[in-house]
Amino acid sequence: MDGMPPADRLEVCFAGRSNVGKSSLINALTGRKALARASNTPGRTQEINFFTCADEHYLVDLPGYGFAKAPVKTVEKWQRLLKAYLSGRANLRRAFVLIDSRHGVKAVDEEIMSLLDSSAVTFQTVLTKADKVKDAEREAVIAQVRGAIAKHPAAYPELIVTSSEKGWGIDVLRAVIATLV
Ligand code: GDP
Repeated sequence: MDGMPPADRLEVCFAGRSNVGKSSLINALTGRKALARASNTPGRTQEINFFTCADEHYLVDLPGYGFAKAPVKTVEKWQRLLKAYLSGRANLRRAFVLIDSRHGVKAVDEEIMSLLDSSAVTFQTVLTKADKVKDAEREAVIAQVRGAIAKHPAAYPELIVTSSEKGWGIDVLRAVIATLV
């Protein structure tokens, strides 16, 4: 926590399983090609990265979770860091929990959602890689996500469907962030 920048401006954070498309989404949001490192190596980024936007707020990139091969110690360290972050930032306005359109909400996502509930951090789900699924699959995953978040008091009911590749939903997400910070 000591290494984090002072909580002197509003921020939103992004969480998601490794390989969910988090780096690509942050890059698409900010119009930068390699702000957040997009990588095909799941579980590589273990730090919390703070990006300053226009000197006004932070976009916070949380480490990807749920990487099956991650050592237990790494997972424990990550959980401690995440808990400290979520309970320690009074300036955090909302967490965006990224869900892969092909996979829907998994058990590890539910764990993060429960942690957000207990940390009293409102979260909103963002479907990623929507270009990779057919319309019917997308509707099915939306229904699955709606069912999952209904159980979480900290969940904001509206989800955002995105594709960083196609630019879908990026403006919507950007507008939501603008209302928060
Ligand atoms: P991260 O580990 O969550 O940061 O995921 P990355 O942003 O590195 O993306 C993981 C992989 O998914 C990469 O191969 C990306 O090119 C791919 N990817 C990310 N977003 C999209 C998307 O919107 N559409 C498609 N088709 N692929 C994507």
